[in-house]
Amino acid sequence: MKVGIVGAGMVGSSAGYALALMGIVSDIVLVDRNAALAIAQAEDISHAVPFMSATSVLAGDYADLAGAGVVILAAGVSQKPGESRLELLERNAAVFREVVGEVLRVAPDAILLIATNPVDIMTQVATRLCGLPPQRVIGSGTILDSARFRSLIGCHLGISPQSVHAYVLGEHGDSEVLGWSNARAGSVSLRSFAEQIGSPLTDHVRQSIDDGVRNAAYKIINGKGATYYGIGAGLARIVKAIAQDQRDVLSVSIVTPHIVDVTDVALSVPRIVGAEGVIADLIPELDVGEYAALGRSAALLKERVESIAL
Ligand code: ADP
Repeated sequence: MKVGIVGAGMVGSSAGYALALMGIVSDIVLVDRNAALAIAQAEDISHAVPFMSATSVLAGDYADLAGAGVVILAAGVSQKPGESRLELLERNAAVFREVVGEVLRVAPDAILLIATNPVDIMTQVATRLCGLPPQRVIGSGTILDSARFRSLIGCHLGISPQSVHAYVLGEHGDSEVLGWSNARAGSVSLRSFAEQIGSPLTDHVRQSIDDGVRNAAYKIINGKGATYYGIGAGLARIVKAIAQDQRDVLSVSIVTPHIVDVTDVALSVPRIVGAEGVIADLIPELDVGEYAALGRSAALLKERVESIAL
């Protein structure tokens, strides 16, 4: 499969790097309005390839995206220290108005994978602009938040993150909802496993995991200006599910017809992802507080997305 990446900045190039090392696609094409940057990133990434795979990594223009199975949209303006994701919105919506049309003209059959923040809103913007079914316009959503959640739970319990089943739902951002009530270690509820091993999930432990998940991006941005390796790997993971028709359960964002009391809003719940994009949703059982918080997150996103004129 050919994968296009529009936006060869930190996030786009990190996704390209992760994909190239994984060796799961045949071709990666990087496009950026800064052509010199795309060329330099493609060349740098291609020098890593001989150590790990045989993926072709090239820079190109939109015409070179013809035949792509997935196009990652990572173009936009990066988040600055102290800047909220929503402040990026208007500038990034303008970028998408330009980019989405160009991509669809040459790659009408591609699944669009949205990485630009605020990702839920940008996913809804892209869905509106392209007219594709929502199942084929997928935002990275809370895939990274869920990975951070699993990693911190795994650390507390002394088991690998892959053996923790837990999801962050709703917005990729401040209103996101950590699904504690249905989280599992293997097949055992988190609470009972934590008690069995004598490491109970006290309020203090839960609070520090919540803080670690919710504020991870802010802390990283304060330290190094941007986050990109984690989301780059998350994007590559979604591409793998599509390219290999894996039907993995991943927390990704698409425009969802109905969630709690809100209609037509892009947000994350666990969804089955395969060759056709999102195949089905697995909305978990939530406790009363989580359900209400998911409703608030959905309502907030809906209000913001309705404020954008397209
Ligand atoms: P991030 O950290 O989110 O990756 P960057 O600023 O590093 O942010 O990367 C965003 C990239 O998107 C930049 O390389 C920029 O040149 C590119 N970009 C911005 N607007 C457009 C556009 N209209 N078309 C193509 N690329 C764009």
